[in-house]
Amino acid sequence: MVEIDSSPTKPLIYDLDFHEIEGVIKEWQQPPFRARQIWEGLYKNFWREPEQFSNLPVSLRKELTNNFRIVSLKPVQVLHSTDGETTKTLFQLPDGKAIEAVLMKYEKRRTLCISTQAGCAMGCVFCATGQMGFKRHLTSGEIVEQVIYYANLLKNEGEAVTNIVLMGMGEPFHNYDATMAAIDRLNHPLGMNLGARRFTISTVGIVPMIRRFASENRQVNLAISLHAADDDLRTSMLPINKKYPLGELMAACREYVAQTNRRLTFEWALIQGVNDSIETARKLARLLEGLLCHVNVIPLNPTKKYAGKGSTRERALAFKTELERHGIPCTIRIRRGIDIQAGCGQLAIQQPQNLPPNPLMI
Ligand code: SAH
Ligand code: SF4
Repeated sequence: MVEIDSSPTKPLIYDLDFHEIEGVIKEWQQPPFRARQIWEGLYKNFWREPEQFSNLPVSLRKELTNNFRIVSLKPVQVLHSTDGETTKTLFQLPDGKAIEAVLMKYEKRRTLCISTQAGCAMGCVFCATGQMGFKRHLTSGEIVEQVIYYANLLKNEGEAVTNIVLMGMGEPFHNYDATMAAIDRLNHPLGMNLGARRFTISTVGIVPMIRRFASENRQVNLAISLHAADDDLRTSMLPINKKYPLGELMAACREYVAQTNRRLTFEWALIQGVNDSIETARKLARLLEGLLCHVNVIPLNPTKKYAGKGSTRERALAFKTELERHGIPCTIRIRRGIDIQAGCGQLAIQQPQNLPPNPLMI
């Protein structure tokens, strides 16, 4: 057995990219192929315990565990929806902060919804994560580890992660570099090799980052949380709209599509009597006219600190029909796992502000 040093100051192994692992291996005067073995252990086999790296010499295994942590996320609560198709895990970070990640099984898809921050600074009024405020950014490794955790569980069932949506807690474009580094690590051909098209980033609409994302010409899908088609209403729901009003946001969206030729998704949480009228659907259709896009409408998932309710199925259908009448494709999404509070941030908000420090820091 390799002894485990539980020092919290050790870097998390998932925070390193392949080149950095190569660098470490060189520094330790090990042959270069060891970097590849470690990478495959982490990203192909999803090993979570140092002893599993039995293809490495004991001395190297020891060196690894003395210098790096493989596990930083501690699952503190696991909920399964009644249909068994959705699993939500509340993780405790080493500093006691809480984040969530959700696995959704749908036909052959195994989609993970992961977090990019603990809490969120954007303050959208209807969002449980927004209601709890900003705690901190996640590191790229902490974003990656949520995926590895589920990939390991699925592997034991003979299954694999097929899609990843960055729609858990936090605003990915407020933590841009860590988010992209995490995607690059999961996308690496020598490891998990999950294609860029399997990822979807959802943003509240941070305009300069939409531009930056467009300029990088990645194959990753982009979704914009729109929710309102005029500035007054949008600002009342999403405070960031004051900084980046609809005119600027839509200009950036149009530039994104022109530059990448990729279809944009717009997210629209339907709130009874607030943004679900036929008139609003027409306004939205005008806003999106001629744009290569698609609208996902999701009846609002109620949260404690917001009085709004999700629209009825009839109103959702009428909204969709009106959009389609104007040539805008629209899908009604059902919030999956509603019985386990799978809405963004809904589990973490029930936790005390700071959980006791995570003892699982190997
Ligand atoms: N911060 C990013 C991604 C995380 S939120 C963003 O805002 O896009 C993921 C999606 O869930 C967003 O479209 C967000 O508007 C939506 N959302 C948040 N709270 C919700 C709720 N209570 N009901 C329905 N959708 C909600
Ligand atoms: Fe943050 Fe997204 Fe929630 Fe808004 S909807 S508060 S941006 S997580």
